[in-house]
Amino acid sequence: MSLIQHLINGELVNDSGRSADVYNPSTGQVIHQVPLASRETIQQAIDSAKAAFPAWRNTPAAKRAQVMFRFKQLLEQNEARISQLISEEHGKTLEDAAGELKRGIENVEYACSAPEILKGEYSRNVGPNIDAWSDFQPLGVVAGITPFNFPAMVPLWMYPLAIVCGNCFILKPSERDPSSTLLIAQLLQEAGLPKGVLSVVHGDKGAVDALIEAPEVKALSFVGSTPIAEYIYSEATKRGKRVQALGGAKNHAVLMPDADLDNAVSALMGAAYGSCGERCMAISVAVCVGDQVADALIAKLVPQIKALKIGAGTTCGLDMGPLVTGQARDKVSGYIEDGVSSGAELVVDGRGLSIAGNEEGFFLGGSLFDRVTPEMRIYKEEIFGPVLCVVRVSSLEAAMQLINDHEYGNGTCIFTRDGEAARLFCDEIEVGMVGVNVPLPVPVAYHSFGGWKRSLFGDLHAYGPDGVRFYTRRKAITQRWPQRASHEASQFAFPSL
Ligand code: NAD
Repeated sequence: MSLIQHLINGELVNDSGRSADVYNPSTGQVIHQVPLASRETIQQAIDSAKAAFPAWRNTPAAKRAQVMFRFKQLLEQNEARISQLISEEHGKTLEDAAGELKRGIENVEYACSAPEILKGEYSRNVGPNIDAWSDFQPLGVVAGITPFNFPAMVPLWMYPLAIVCGNCFILKPSERDPSSTLLIAQLLQEAGLPKGVLSVVHGDKGAVDALIEAPEVKALSFVGSTPIAEYIYSEATKRGKRVQALGGAKNHAVLMPDADLDNAVSALMGAAYGSCGERCMAISVAVCVGDQVADALIAKLVPQIKALKIGAGTTCGLDMGPLVTGQARDKVSGYIEDGVSSGAELVVDGRGLSIAGNEEGFFLGGSLFDRVTPEMRIYKEEIFGPVLCVVRVSSLEAAMQLINDHEYGNGTCIFTRDGEAARLFCDEIEVGMVGVNVPLPVPVAYHSFGGWKRSLFGDLHAYGPDGVRFYTRRKAITQRWPQRASHEASQFAFPSL
C-alpha cells in the first residue's frame, strides 16, 4: 500500500497529519492512503501560488498556451496509464475512463487558444483623441474542489483555463480517487509549467474550509453534491470570493410516442447505467408519454439490463464496473428498498450481485422501477447509482411540468421525430443542458457546462467562454493622447459626446 503525496511548488510532499483509505472498488481492498491536508499545508500551497503569480501573469498568453500544447501531447501519450489509475480507484471501465480523459483534453485544446480568447475588446475614437478598451486580467490565486466521479475530466474543466488566463491554481481533488488527478498535474509540470502555478492538495472538509477562509484565494470553482455546493457558495461569497458551485442532478429523458424506440433504448441504456449511474448527467428518470410507450420501453429495457456485462473496471469490454465505495453501494441499495416500500414496481432488482473472483467488490446490477410518482424519495432525490425510474404521463406538457417542478435542472433530453415538440421542449424546459435525441448533452469545450436551479450556485457556467469570464476580471481603460498644439478647457458637466 502506498502513500499518495501532495504536489506543492512543483514538488511531491508528505503530510504528517491525518490520512484516509483509498479503495479499489472492484476488489473491495484498500490500496493507498491519501493525506488530508492541514491548514499549514494549504497555506504552503497558497504561499507558493502567490509567489508564482507575478511572473506567470506577465508571461505572454502565447507562451502560456505553448505549455498547454505540450500538456495535451503528454496526456495523449499517457492515456492508457491514466485510464488504468482512474479505473483502479473509481471502478469505471477502462473505455469509460479513456472517454472522460478525451473530454478533459478538449478543455486543454480550448485553453491552447489563449491568445485568441484573451484579446479583449477595443474601440478607437470613443471621444476626441480618446480610445477605449477592455482588458481581461487574471484574478490571482484561485482554487478548485472536485468530485470523485470524474477525477480526470472535471479538474481539466478548471485549471487549464484558469492557468492559461494567468492565474495560479490550487486543486483539492476528491480524496476517494486522487491518483489519476495527481499524475495529470505532474504531466503539466513536465510540460514546463513554472513551480507554484498549480498545486494539488488532498483533503476533506478541513482543507476546503481553509481554502474558503484564505483571503489570498480570490475565486472558487466547485463540482460535487448540492448540499456541499450550497455550503461553499454561501461561505465563500460571504467572504467576497467569486464562486461557481455545480451541484447534483436528476436528469429526465422524455420519450414521445413517435420516438425511434430502439435507438432511444440504446441511448438510455448507456446514459442510465454507464459508469454505474455515477454521472451528474446520467439519465435517472424516463418519462413516458402514454402507457403504450412505457410498456414498450420496459419490454425492450428488461432483457438488456439483465444482460449488462459487469465486472472489475480494469477488465476490457465490460458495460459497468462497481460503485465507488461500499458506502455508496449500500446507499443505492437503501434507495431501492425505499422505492419498493413506497409502492414503486421494481421490475429489475440489481441487488445481491456477486462477481466471481471479485466477491468483495462494491457491485450492484442495473435496477429498473416502473410506476414511480413524484412524491417518492427515489424520484425526488439523486440516487447516483445504476437505477432507472419510469414515470408515466399523458402528454408532453405534463412531462415538461414534471421536469420544471423538480428542484434540479442539470440535464434533460427528449426522444422524438416531431420538430415542433422538440422546439417547444428546448424553449420552455427549465434545465441548463438539453438534448434532442442526445441522451448526455454534455457541451463541447467551446460552449460552457452548467445546470439551472439547485444544480448550480453562481452565475457563470464551467469552462468555455463562461470559464474565461469566471477566471478573469474586466478592466475598462479609457485613454486620451491630446494633439500637441491643442488645449482643452475644464469641463464641469458630466463628460459626454
Ligand atoms: P461531494 O459533494 O461529496 O464531494 C465533492 C468535493 O467536496 C470533494 O472534493 C470532497 O472532498 C469535498 N467535500 C465533501 N464533503 C465536504 C464538506 N462537508 N465540506 C467541504 N467539502 C466537502 O461529491 P462526490 O460524492 O465526490 O460527487 C458526486 C456528486 O457530485 C453528485 O451529487 C454529482 O451529481 C455531483 N456532480 C455534479 C457535476 C456537475 O457538473 N453538476 C459533475 C460531477 C459530479
